[in-house]
Amino acid sequence: MAYDPSVLSSLIRDIPDFPKPGIMFKDITPLLGDGPAWVATIEQLAALPTDGPIDRVVGIEARGFLLGAAVAFHLGVGFVPLRKPAKLPYRTNSVSYSLEYGSESLEMHVDAVGPGDGVLIVDDVLATGGTAAAAVQLLRGAGATVVGASFLMELSFLDGRAQLPDVSVASLLTY
Ligand code: AMP
Repeated sequence: MAYDPSVLSSLIRDIPDFPKPGIMFKDITPLLGDGPAWVATIEQLAALPTDGPIDRVVGIEARGFLLGAAVAFHLGVGFVPLRKPAKLPYRTNSVSYSLEYGSESLEMHVDAVGPGDGVLIVDDVLATGGTAAAAVQLLRGAGATVVGASFLMELSFLDGRAQLPDVSVASLLTY
């Protein structure tokens, strides 16, 4: 079912000053709670353009798990979680990246993807692009081919695409 972007957008709630002052948090829980709109979101995310065939979908903790796992299921491919430090049980590769204040790390199991795998990154929001760029670094470090990065929303005023110059980036909604 195709949903008008304005319908999806009406189910994303702006929460000012969360989790800290100056941030307008995009709360997707109303969208998660609406069955037909959620199905349409996943179908449309899964249909966004990529550079090549998708063997695995990678989701970034935590909301990227919700969207990414559903997209992987819809496409009939495997799902790979990228997690915050010390959450994954097996051996990991790690990459650190800068945030507005301080730094963060993402980890991936060493055997999650391999050379020749076409990988699609999925997350809820593309903001500054630092998180997605870290995911690209992890995936390429493991020999995978990043065939795209698909987002529910893109905060275009933060120009996250600049951090992903050689990745096919697509989003359903642009703010
Ligand atoms: P960035 O690395 O700046 O592109 O931030 C992207 C990550 O932070 C994503 O995993 C988002 O879930 C989260 N994020 C950033 N900004 C927002 C926002 N305004 N509302 C909700 N989540 C956000």
